[in-house]
Amino acid sequence: MSSTRHKWGDKVRFPHKTERQCSRCDMVKVGRRQTEGGRDRYWDEYWRDEERIYSEATLPCDARREAVAA
Ligand SMILES: [Zn+2]
Repeated sequence: MSSTRHKWGDKVRFPHKTERQCSRCDMVKVGRRQTEGGRDRYWDEYWRDEERIYSEATLPCDARREAVAA
């Protein structure tokens, strides 16, 4: 089994989130921060093609950009 790992780009910072995009498959990892009741909460979201991906574990990288380039 060929496990493919994401190749995250540089982190881009926004006021309440950070974004990193995988240069191999276009997936975006969003790190969010929200203050609730005086406490900061952090969590990660994964997005691709403008849709959020709901998954317990990090999805493997399908490297679709490299497949197109090859
Ligand atoms: Zn990827």
